[in-house]
Amino acid sequence: MRIIIFLAFCLAVYYIIKGYFKDQGLQRGRRPDPRHPPTITDELVQDPVCGVYFPKKDALSLIWKGKTYYFCSKECRQKFREQNLES
Ligand SMILES: [Zn+2]
Repeated sequence: MRIIIFLAFCLAVYYIIKGYFKDQGLQRGRRPDPRHPPTITDELVQDPVCGVYFPKKDALSLIWKGKTYYFCSKECRQKFREQNLES
């Protein structure tokens, strides 16, 4: 009886190892393309109006006095424009 438990244990170990190597292979496949580094698009910027941090790729930009500002929404960009044009 003990030998059956031992064999079952060996099978379990075998499948765990097999699964582990399969995952490793998938991870290798998912590795991002070095020609398109994701770090640039995932860069976080802060909205100067509401103070929220969000990815630069989703940002609305506005160049004002030679500086680029990033906003989470049209409303924030509009608010910033109004504040700076008034003062
Ligand atoms: Zn905002």
